[in-house]
Amino acid sequence: MDLKNLFYPKSIAVIGASKDPAKLGNVILKNIISCGYKGKAYPVNLQEKKILGLKCYKNVLDIDPKIDLAVIVIPSKFVPKVIEECGRKEIKNVIVISAGFGEIGEKGLELSKEVEKIADKYSINILGPNCLGILNSDNGLNCSFAQDMINKGNIAFVSQSGAICTAMLDWAKNKNLGFSKFVSLGNKLEINENDLLEYLDKDKQTQIILFYLEDIKQGEKFVRLANKIIKNKPIVLLKAGKSSEAQKAISSHTGSLASSDKLIEAAAKKSGITRVSSLEELFLLSLCLAGQPLPLANKIVIITNAGGPGVITTDHVSQSGLSLSKFQNKTVDLLKKELPAEANTKNPIDLVGDALEDRYKKALEICLKDKNVDSLIILLTPQKITPVEKIAQLLVNFNKKSKKPLISVFMGGKRVSRAKKNLNKNLVPDFNYPEQAVDVLEKMWQIGKGQKVVIPRAEYKTSPKAEEIIKEAKDNNYKFLPFKKAEDILKLYGFKVARSGLVKNKRQAVKIASELGYPVVLKIASQKIVHKSDAGGVEVNLKNSQEVKEAYDKILKKTKVKSWRDDEGILVQPMSKAGQEIILGMKRDENFGPLIMVGLGGIFVEVLGDVSWRLAPLNKKLAKEMLKELKAFSLLAGVRGRKKFDIESLAQTIVLLSNLSLAHPEIKELDINPLFLFKKSYKIVDLRFKIA
Ligand code: ADP
Ligand code: MG
Repeated sequence: MDLKNLFYPKSIAVIGASKDPAKLGNVILKNIISCGYKGKAYPVNLQEKKILGLKCYKNVLDIDPKIDLAVIVIPSKFVPKVIEECGRKEIKNVIVISAGFGEIGEKGLELSKEVEKIADKYSINILGPNCLGILNSDNGLNCSFAQDMINKGNIAFVSQSGAICTAMLDWAKNKNLGFSKFVSLGNKLEINENDLLEYLDKDKQTQIILFYLEDIKQGEKFVRLANKIIKNKPIVLLKAGKSSEAQKAISSHTGSLASSDKLIEAAAKKSGITRVSSLEELFLLSLCLAGQPLPLANKIVIITNAGGPGVITTDHVSQSGLSLSKFQNKTVDLLKKELPAEANTKNPIDLVGDALEDRYKKALEICLKDKNVDSLIILLTPQKITPVEKIAQLLVNFNKKSKKPLISVFMGGKRVSRAKKNLNKNLVPDFNYPEQAVDVLEKMWQIGKGQKVVIPRAEYKTSPKAEEIIKEAKDNNYKFLPFKKAEDILKLYGFKVARSGLVKNKRQAVKIASELGYPVVLKIASQKIVHKSDAGGVEVNLKNSQEVKEAYDKILKKTKVKSWRDDEGILVQPMSKAGQEIILGMKRDENFGPLIMVGLGGIFVEVLGDVSWRLAPLNKKLAKEMLKELKAFSLLAGVRGRKKFDIESLAQTIVLLSNLSLAHPEIKELDINPLFLFKKSYKIVDLRFKIA
């Protein structure tokens, strides 16, 4: 999709332009002609002869010269007709400001479809409908109904909500933050986040990309594009989750734990983009990104003229992924030499309450040279003699030369307000509270780490036998694969599954049990029963033929199963030796692909929800990262004399699960629960494949 003329049109038609200053059609035309845009604007309105001094046309088709961009601000029901006219006029880019489409329900959806059809017929790129428009600081184009023009800057902001655009704009004005491009996506009928990513990747003015999104339509493409682009341009995402409670499936454990939030988290991890969780964080991070380089690592120094705030900041650092720099000897010696005896020359550096700008200057100079310092937080509280403005100016000067990110926190109100203005004006991020500075620096560090993320190549071979098994089950209209069939598929892909025999009477059960060796487990295998133990369909630790017979009767009685299909019956499995119970799972997302889950079984998953998620494809390195993310990981890794489990095998199994999921799109959800993990190797004793 070529969006050049959307951002750099030589001529714009405003369809629905108006004389009435209270109407959007007036605001937009005024914005176009009054913010520095040098191209031509053509108002279109059925009634008027002239608007804002410009000749008015009754129809775009009446305009002689070529038109690069049309903006439509008329009631939604007239939009299809007007787009048809734009098509005939060969206008390739159209912004539909008008609301009243998909967002209003059935009737609006019909209109949307109509518009889409016409747009396809004429190959028109449509932005919106239901959007605020676009702004481009490079050519002074304000093709929107925003109240202000943006300042020049290196950040592109793309938002699915027009209201958040206007809030961001106003806030940015206040903080002197500039933008390259500012885009309101609206309903994303045609142009979506991926089209913008492709465009902004090539846009020279843009160095940083911020997104506010409510949904991501082509998730896999988004992840791959973003992963490519972040190598050069950081991408930050604020994703508001339409809660996925409603679509929660209870038929699989994984399905019930997977939420849209987990999915986006996994998408962010796979692509390397950085996710923020609040508007505040998005605002503050953009302030920092606009004027600061990314830190090379996570070691920070705190310089303060007050003890308390230094302690608070240190506490917050210890709860974050950052840590305080340990100074080189040289640094310590210099600090001791240059600062007064009562100053604390350890990190956090306390310059003490009577510090003037010279102490800040010396501390900064010395710390910036220390290679163990990756970023800096400069705290200030305004004592009577504190030269607040001078210290701010000092930071401005340092910021111009420094290659390390720096955030200042001038605490207070009236006494620090002028200094804060100066800092803002000169792109030194200055926050009100130290916690904010720590959080933002942590995100900056994450952005740097994200740039190194590589999506592994999926390496698997589809098993035709497995395909056949799935096809047969689908032909039988099964919702779940029969146990033995699912077991076969796992074996075909190299998983280690407990031996088992399927029987249909007690005599067979005893025979198989003695072949497998006691103790054994009996469990029901029936399409009707999804959660076997809940239905009374599992009996464990059966030590002899008598117990097997009794268990057999008990299961039949409790589950009330009367008849069996061929592939149903009672399963006899050897009782597994004790090991750590692990749950492995997959839930396929239409847009993002297989979402893989791992966690420790029992209370860890049931009560604590301690599981980690990643999108396929996975390799062993990523699988191990998943395991390390578990809060209970130390239980696997062997702490305090506890035994160490076979993490290598488990990681390998996660990779197999990723491969299997990619090989068979028909598998919608998959539970392996439990897998018993031992000191050496593992065994899977329960599995569930949902295919429809
Ligand atoms: P479901 O999850 O459908 O209730 P499972 O086969 O997972 O059925 O059995 C329930 C529980 O019984 C398991 O979580 C596990 O603790 C135990 N169990 C099942 N099979 C075995 C086995 N072969 N060896 C040891 N314990 C088992
Ligand atoms: Mg189970």
